[in-house]
Amino acid sequence: MTMSALGEPCVLLKLGEIVLKGKNRELFERRLIANIKDALQTVGVQVDVRKRHGVIAIFLPEGASPEQAEAVAQRVADVPGLVWIHRAWRVAKDPDAVLKAGLELAGESEEAKRGAPFAVRSRRRDKRFPLRSNELDRLVGGAINDEYGLPVDLKNPALTVHIEVDRDEVFVFTGGIPGQGGLPVGSSGRALVLMSGGIDSPVAAYRMMRRGLHVDFLHFSGIPFTTSESIYKAYALVRKLDRFQGRSRLWVVPFGKAQQSIRTSGQDRLAVIAQRRLMLKTAEEVAHRIRAAALITGDALGQVSSQTLANITAQDNAVELPILRPLVGWDKTEIMAEARRIGTLEISELPDEDCCSLLAPKRAETRAKIEDLKQIEKRLDAEELCVQLADSIQEYTL
Ligand code: ATP
Ligand code: MG
Repeated sequence: MTMSALGEPCVLLKLGEIVLKGKNRELFERRLIANIKDALQTVGVQVDVRKRHGVIAIFLPEGASPEQAEAVAQRVADVPGLVWIHRAWRVAKDPDAVLKAGLELAGESEEAKRGAPFAVRSRRRDKRFPLRSNELDRLVGGAINDEYGLPVDLKNPALTVHIEVDRDEVFVFTGGIPGQGGLPVGSSGRALVLMSGGIDSPVAAYRMMRRGLHVDFLHFSGIPFTTSESIYKAYALVRKLDRFQGRSRLWVVPFGKAQQSIRTSGQDRLAVIAQRRLMLKTAEEVAHRIRAAALITGDALGQVSSQTLANITAQDNAVELPILRPLVGWDKTEIMAEARRIGTLEISELPDEDCCSLLAPKRAETRAKIEDLKQIEKRLDAEELCVQLADSIQEYTL
């Protein structure tokens, strides 16, 4: 590629909500850059990550292949905080160099080969550049039109050649991959996800990572009365989600015996909510130990009997930490579509023996009374039980 006018390959990143931040924007940007560097460690390409005016540029080493640039782009597309990822070329700050690069890039594209309409869109972040953006559009657009005979369509182009003039260089690119949006993981603190093997909780975890939380995962297994299948599932789900945050940890609570004592404490109709409260109390104890400041669940209002407004109230009452429920207003079909998009659906749909199947009352209470639940908990000595359960957790690190 030495005869190319394209200059050096790089990856250009457009920031999401961070750009709305005021004084502490710098902090968010620093966190984002650290997350990007972390994520790229698995790609095995030496990169140089630089902050530019409102964008981040990843420079690849000299002689890096297009495949390596693509691998870098694909990897950072999973890092929350970015809205667009462009494979770009870094060109000298000179109109002639930009013109040649624009021509070559357009000529190489699939769209040009089928004669599709195109547009050039320039931005001048550095106003000292001799050409204004509309002048640059016309210069490069005119040349592409002359050279390849492609029609210009500013409203609905099939191919857009982007030119962005920066302080030290000009970036030229076509196309891009959408990023995850949201905020950099870690910028909002840490939280603990209650992770079943189901469809909802992995989606809830993902949505909260995107709001800047670094999460740990807590799974309650029916062991010793069920097989370990649900643990494998939870582990597979955590592995799938780890690409969004890194350093994920799964904690597993053997919950079977505690469930048995709930079952034998009478009050069949309240068993599910009583169990949910015990899960939350245990999760709160674990959260204190790992310094997580909130709990996250996959609850959606009205989805099942344990998620009526009264029962959600009864759950909130069990703990002092806030319970974040990002899916509270989502339909099941919306949750499933998101699960498919982030790649967790096919794991969640694998069969397993969930611990909840151990407690399946004929008729579940939809309006649990907190006083009745407190009675059950007194008999169980729930305060002591949740400490014991937290003591018995096992850690699985990725
Ligand atoms: P999901 O909601 O993840 O699809 P589900 O629908 O089987 O699984 P529900 O019975 O609706 O789960 O439980 C609501 C929420 O309670 C879950 O989203 C999850 O946060 C939590 N939860 C339920 N079971 C477990 C479990 N075995 N371990 C950890 N958390 C659980
Ligand atoms: Mg559910």
